[in-house]
Amino acid sequence: MTQMKTAATFKSVNPARPTEVVGHVEDLSIEMLEKIVNRAQRAHSGWAMLPAPERGMYLHRAADELQLQLEDIAITMTKEMGKTLAEAKGETARGVAILRYFAGEGMREIGQVIPSADSDALMYTTRCPLGVVGAITPWNFPVAIPIWKIAPALAYGNTVILKPAEEASVTARKVIACFHSAQFPEGVVNIATGQGTAIGKALVEHPYVSAITFTGSNAVGKQIGRTALERGAKYQLEMGGKNPVIVTKDADLDVAVEATISGGLKSTGQKCTATSRVIVEEDVYDAFKEKLLRAVEAITIGDGLEASTWMGPLATKAQFEKVLEAIDKGKKEGATLLAGGNRVSSLDGYFIEPTVFENVDHSKSLAQEEIFGPVLALFRISSIQEAIALANNSEYGLSASIFTTNIQEMLTFTTEMQAGLIRVNAESAGVELQAPFGGMKSSSSHSREQGRAAIEFFTSVKTVFVKG
Ligand code: NAD
Repeated sequence: MTQMKTAATFKSVNPARPTEVVGHVEDLSIEMLEKIVNRAQRAHSGWAMLPAPERGMYLHRAADELQLQLEDIAITMTKEMGKTLAEAKGETARGVAILRYFAGEGMREIGQVIPSADSDALMYTTRCPLGVVGAITPWNFPVAIPIWKIAPALAYGNTVILKPAEEASVTARKVIACFHSAQFPEGVVNIATGQGTAIGKALVEHPYVSAITFTGSNAVGKQIGRTALERGAKYQLEMGGKNPVIVTKDADLDVAVEATISGGLKSTGQKCTATSRVIVEEDVYDAFKEKLLRAVEAITIGDGLEASTWMGPLATKAQFEKVLEAIDKGKKEGATLLAGGNRVSSLDGYFIEPTVFENVDHSKSLAQEEIFGPVLALFRISSIQEAIALANNSEYGLSASIFTTNIQEMLTFTTEMQAGLIRVNAESAGVELQAPFGGMKSSSSHSREQGRAAIEFFTSVKTVFVKG
């Protein structure tokens, strides 16, 4: 490893106990980033020339290392961003599975033979890597999101620089250490910790960085998209959501309630696919509401490391304040508060009660703005057409669910709903790793992550014509 000047550092703290420092993280200077980019650039041709099955073996070794470190990384994740240990372990295990999936990509076909009109010619497509990929990630899935970007980037022959969220950088550093323990060649897998507005921005602007894959907020994503477009870099943006769940009179209400609670409030509502709008047919509205409020009341809140905790704190002070402001705004806009609405005063950390509103104006903030916290808004509707129109009345289009036993309603919903992830009798959050993941409308730049779909972003197609 090249020796660098010591960087300044910033603290990463435990949101359940903000006086507890989880770690100190390097706040890299632009000069330090420059060295990392140069290293990744130098490493690229050697890595790209390696046979793909061999690259796959490296990914298998990284998976082995991550599996070995699973417990430690999950505990770090819970301490650093607050999700429960069970969720953190599940996420880390998913990271292992993603690595194994993309390790297998090293042995799958990457092109097609296309019939040529010339009988002496062979025509086919193949795919080539892009070069150095910059991966910019949020704090809410600090293992799975970096890995679902890094693994395909590497499998298809790119080198990578991860710029993790400031608030989850200790966890990210441990993930990258697994790649280093797996003995990837120098410069192939890199991490650049620091501020988004400095290091993140410089990564997006760097001429050696051929592609940027970003997950995070719409405001930052759109800015990154503009910069990347201007300098001709490839980019992929996965951003926010305002995900609806529709419950019709033909739904199994117990299933719908359980999925709404889990989809809306697990990870303290901080999933891009979290349920935030619950649209219920009037015949079952009161019964659903009663069951939902009973389930909300039973939620246990606390430090995610404690086995009794179902819901942890908000991940950061900024997020905590933003959610409290959103709740306040909802009240001022005239929505009726049915449950929660406050910080948990008995706890020191960034805890907010699970919150439910009804009588929400469709055009107002609770119906339109992403909150990214434990807040649900209930809407009463009288038909499936009205439900779908309301569900589609959003700038976002990431995930959407319907709960019904009526096959016609299922079909209408799957056809008319404008969302990248359509779920029937299943919560809005959660997509299997071998399936394409991404949104429509403002939620995404419309490319897809995960599974085979990832090849589209992380490679470029070459059409080859060989005349004999
Ligand atoms: P954020 O946009 O604030 O930050 C994301 C990353 O971008 C961080 O690493 C940050 O340091 C970096 N960044 C900030 N400013 C930058 C700049 N000017 N240039 C380059 N990089 C910059 O998002 P967050 O608060 O970390 O995460 C929450 C958001 O992420 C929510 O909106 C959520 O919906 C979204 N999200 C989307 C998905 C998805 O797949 N669609 C998944 C998870 C989270």
